[in-house]
Amino acid sequence: AGTGKFFVGGNWKCNGTKDSITKLVADLNSASLEADVDVVVAPPFIYIDQVKNSLTDRIEISAQNCWVGKGGAFTGEISGEQLKDIGCKWVVLGHSERRHVIGEKDDFIGKKAAYALSQGLGVIACIGELLEEREAGKTFDVCFQQLKAYADAVPSWDDIVIAYEPVWAIGTGKVATPQQAQEVHVAVRDWLSKNVSPEVASKTRIIYGGSVNGSNCADLATKEDIDGFLVGGASLKGPEFATIVNSVT
Ligand code: PEP
Repeated sequence: AGTGKFFVGGNWKCNGTKDSITKLVADLNSASLEADVDVVVAPPFIYIDQVKNSLTDRIEISAQNCWVGKGGAFTGEISGEQLKDIGCKWVVLGHSERRHVIGEKDDFIGKKAAYALSQGLGVIACIGELLEEREAGKTFDVCFQQLKAYADAVPSWDDIVIAYEPVWAIGTGKVATPQQAQEVHVAVRDWLSKNVSPEVASKTRIIYGGSVNGSNCADLATKEDIDGFLVGGASLKGPEFATIVNSVT
């Protein structure tokens, strides 16, 4: 882990029922979590209120997405104002499933980030390359282009956590090695230093996501530029998620 406060987010994706979420919240409420870690969970929109009303305040709540601007006539969307209203502190933006399944583009994601920040939300800003991009030696180019879209849109990096999530590692059980993750995290920090500022580079947390679980988190957490994790599948199991939170070194 680096010098910033360790940050672990649980992305529940499109999973859960009222009953399964009641159980998960109870497990999280009874887990013992290291004090010096920011812990966040991202339930599906429709369960945010249930989670907000039952989960310990120790854990903050994130949405998994939001609309690009002010709410209004946008059927099926949820606005940043509404997320604030319901008690969310964070929103995940640019997740690979939204980029590659839904088709969201870099500049649209950048605009979402800027609007969410303007509403007082923190942004978990995801980036990451596809397998074919990695194999073609384009990992850094892809990540830098995605970073640039955020940098071009946002006025400040104070409330942004960057999540590096190689697409080939998400939901596949194929975790990046600590070296592979560290190499990209250093490159991202270097990009921020040159293109935003050395101060932003040193204080922005860069977390890793992609098949993190209770068994591989400790090795990843030893790396100097890995400031935490964004966890999908393993965040649906309270005790395992707690193990990942407590992997802070
Ligand atoms: C994610 O969805 O952000 C993620 C990293 O998923 P998983 O941990 O299941 O690979």
